Amino acid sequence: MATTAKKAEEVAHASMFDAVLARLDKAAELFGLAPEVAEILRHPKREVKVSLPIKMDDGSVKVFEGYRTVHSTHLGPSKGGIRYAMDVNDDEVRALAAWMTVKCAIANLPYGGGKGGIKCDPRKMSVGELERLTRAYTRAMSDVFGVNKDIPAPDMGTGKREMAWLLDEYNRVQGEDSPGVTTGKPITLGGSKGREAATGRGVMVASLAAMKKIGLNHKTATAAVQGFGNVGSHAARLLASKNITIKAISDHTAAYYNEKGIDIEAALKFVASNGNVLKGFTGGQEISNNELLTANVDLLVPAAIQGVITSANAGDIKAKLIVEGANGPTEADADQILNDKGIVVVPDVLANGGGVTVSYFEWVQNRMGHYWTEDEVNAKHDASMAQAFENCWFNSQQYKTSMRIGAYITALKKLDKAIRYKGNY
Ligand code: NAD
Repeated sequence: MATTAKKAEEVAHASMFDAVLARLDKAAELFGLAPEVAEILRHPKREVKVSLPIKMDDGSVKVFEGYRTVHSTHLGPSKGGIRYAMDVNDDEVRALAAWMTVKCAIANLPYGGGKGGIKCDPRKMSVGELERLTRAYTRAMSDVFGVNKDIPAPDMGTGKREMAWLLDEYNRVQGEDSPGVTTGKPITLGGSKGREAATGRGVMVASLAAMKKIGLNHKTATAAVQGFGNVGSHAARLLASKNITIKAISDHTAAYYNEKGIDIEAALKFVASNGNVLKGFTGGQEISNNELLTANVDLLVPAAIQGVITSANAGDIKAKLIVEGANGPTEADADQILNDKGIVVVPDVLANGGGVTVSYFEWVQNRMGHYWTEDEVNAKHDASMAQAFENCWFNSQQYKTSMRIGAYITALKKLDKAIRYKGNY
């Protein structure tokens, strides 16, 4: 890579962990967090980088970079996904791990935060290559992972297939069966019912709770959902099941708008029969993804990628409520614009916590060796999400701040206590 391009990439990534720290600092200042506690949270507990030589299908050997960062274990073993993507690097993993610390504390889970990743393009690798890579990564991280130490899960570019390989390899290394060492597994291997839809379900619960607070009747409300993958499609389906009219949906290939409401079941069927993409859907008129973000709706759910709401488009957003299904969809400099417009933003660290909440239920079921029905999982999830929402709302009101900073304060209150109780610094 040319030096200037490399430098630009480093600068861009340097800002990601800084962005997490900037929001933590703001919350810490309002809350009055002791400087020594803030200082501890500014540094990840452990960072591991490994080189993974893999024999490719053509006989060549390629060396991949693998990362795992444990940001905090103050509230329990670290928890967080594993991402396979070309832009994975130490700074991004560090930022995502810190986010997990905040997210788990808000969701009231007995977990710290961690995250991992491999710099690779999974779409350009064969299944065999991906399996060898996942197993090599697991062997290299086998002293980091552990049912009571650090518990991975899927993230972008990974899913239940990778978690099954990871579990199998970990069990081989340890010489015993430890289903709780990872979550997001296939149900046959100890996965939890309700896990797949959990993040979208949490978005639905958070949306309804926020609507109640700001006096929006969900039976007459309208919404736009960006992203039609795991989070976006389940969120759209579940919001529609509560009579919310979904006027716009999108993925990376296309966005569609229908004034009368998109038939979400029809969109789901279309995507399933169309190579998992929306392009070509006939249930609405095609618009751009930016038009979706600024559509005339009550609720906007960004559930695709980070950095889509910026200072350039925040001023044009017409929604009264934004519920962040994706991680980091709103850039820090857009926060103030949204605040000034009186738009309520339910932040990612709260809104998409449904996934890790049901991951926790999966881990609990694995430890008990006893499994719950989907209704039991959903009921526990909904109660947990509703409580997390109330706590963040309360803190935003008490500290006269945005819901985002209120959510960070919710996390800091718990982390502060845990760090002080444990002491030893
Ligand atoms: P996914 O890969 O299943 O789906 C992503 C969707 O976004 C796809 O429909 C894709 O086409 C769309 N997309 C990609 N680029 C886009 C663009 N430029 N414009 C519009 N749409 C675009 O991923 P996912 O699991 O649904 O994750 C989505 C977001 O939610 C990510 O930020 C992820 O970190 C976050 N998240 C996911 C979970 C989970 O349980 N899956 C939990 C917490 C947070």
